[in-house]
Amino acid sequence: MLTFRGIFFGGIMMAAAASAQQPQAHHWAIVVHGGAGDIVRAKLGPDGDKAYRASLTRVVEAGAAVLDRGGSSLDAIEAAIHIMEDDPLFNAGHGAVFAADGTNEMDSAIMDGATLRAGAVADVTRTRHPISLARAVMEKTPYVLLVGPGADAFSAQAGLEQEPPSYFFTESRWQSLVKQLEKEGKPIPPRPPGVPPPSQTIPIAQWQEAAGTRNYGTVGVVALDKQGNIAAGTSTGGLQGKLPGRVGDSPLIGAGTYASNQSCAVSGTGVGEYFIRYTVARDVCGLVQYKGLTLQQAADEVIHKKLEPIHGDGGVIAITPDGQLVWSFNTPGMFRGRQAEGGTIEVHIYNDEP
Ligand code: ASP
Repeated sequence: MLTFRGIFFGGIMMAAAASAQQPQAHHWAIVVHGGAGDIVRAKLGPDGDKAYRASLTRVVEAGAAVLDRGGSSLDAIEAAIHIMEDDPLFNAGHGAVFAADGTNEMDSAIMDGATLRAGAVADVTRTRHPISLARAVMEKTPYVLLVGPGADAFSAQAGLEQEPPSYFFTESRWQSLVKQLEKEGKPIPPRPPGVPPPSQTIPIAQWQEAAGTRNYGTVGVVALDKQGNIAAGTSTGGLQGKLPGRVGDSPLIGAGTYASNQSCAVSGTGVGEYFIRYTVARDVCGLVQYKGLTLQQAADEVIHKKLEPIHGDGGVIAITPDGQLVWSFNTPGMFRGRQAEGGTIEVHIYNDEP
């Protein structure tokens, strides 16, 4: 676990004592994930490893820049998730996995820990940045969750950037879907309209093929801003080969996404059905709020003691208003990174790293 206290201990604590009467500015912090799963060195190889670390670093930097100039945790989350939604390495936005019918149906949620306001969308198909659509639901409607065609229509009305289905297509995700459906003896849908024939796409590197599989790439960010407010956001294409209409945990408040200044902010990744049944994100925060567990203890309790025995594969990132920033996962890897004000960026992939 990394805390500001660890980083700043001496100087800051003395300064804090000296200025006990003054209102305290908070020190910002951010944690990001890019999905958990069967992520091992042998599959990713040096090139894949390098590509993901570089990308995660850019994502942390983008969120940190917003927080450092005094921006809100919500703004930092949106900025950081935009980068991952545009990056084909991740299963969100461009590069989202395909449902069994060859469409991309995306889910996203954002929650503000200061006010408990939340917004979410499920099975949206045209919005370049689903996290911004989730935020628009939170800020521009009295609702929490919009789904399917209604959510797509609201997105256009709200003036969010729209894209044709071919924008979300990547060859590696497509090939991965085809392989899965062949293995399962299911029909292969036609390639989406407007995408180039396979002969005209850039050849897929071996690591990209591995990274294209279903267990890689949902994205999430939790952040603490200088005002002391925490928030959480998650964005995903869901599970590859899913039945069209399936909704995962990511857009469900309390399951894959949750934030409250009273406890913590959490974004999860993994097999969503388990995260829904165990209300994972809220459970982590409940253990902090009602049982007084540290954030690391709470996250480990849910991920290792509750989910692991039932093969609920996945992980969470989490943050508290007092600056605990943690991750916990029960899979071979989770793409992840974090930074606290005054500290350096940490980026890790495998379970033998910190
Ligand atoms: N939790 C996501 C879902 O079930 C998938 C993932 O995190 O990889 O939709």
